[in-house]
Amino acid sequence: MKYFKSISLVYFFILLFIHGCLLNSNKEERKLENKKTEFEITKTDEEWKKILTPEQFHVLRKKGTEPAFTGKYYNNKKKGLYVCAGCGNELFHSDAKFDSGTGWPSFWMPVSENSVKTQSDYSYSMIRVEVLCGKCGGHLGHVFEDGPQPTGLRYCINSIALNFEEGKENPSKDTP
Ligand SMILES: [Zn+2]
Repeated sequence: MKYFKSISLVYFFILLFIHGCLLNSNKEERKLENKKTEFEITKTDEEWKKILTPEQFHVLRKKGTEPAFTGKYYNNKKKGLYVCAGCGNELFHSDAKFDSGTGWPSFWMPVSENSVKTQSDYSYSMIRVEVLCGKCGGHLGHVFEDGPQPTGLRYCINSIALNFEEGKENPSKDTP
């Protein structure tokens, strides 16, 4: 009888050990998932509504698109820096802006590798690459591979997702 008791105790500990391992691996997976969608600035919809206009909220937080040729920056030829209208993150400089003829401000590169993030977008039966603000995850527009050299990229961005800081230097010039 004693023998059986110790056997079942051993089983009990083995089960406990396996259970602990499973719990741990679940935790690891969850950590990875969170990392994928983690942005430095996170706010609820209610909080965003307090600092954005309804039009900005629709584009930045609900992935809307402003009608072509209606935004304030598609034809802006002034020198300066374009920042995120949601969080002020430095996104694009006029040095990399070009006239794409599409009616949206277009750039061939962001000011730094981390200033924007991209992800696949399968909405409206199209395969596109969505451009998000690297800091707050706000929807900025899409990037296409029909832009000018040297990158061949066209970042097609909604004016309403941007604020323009006239005369501000390109911050990427300092980093070789
Ligand atoms: Zn932002």
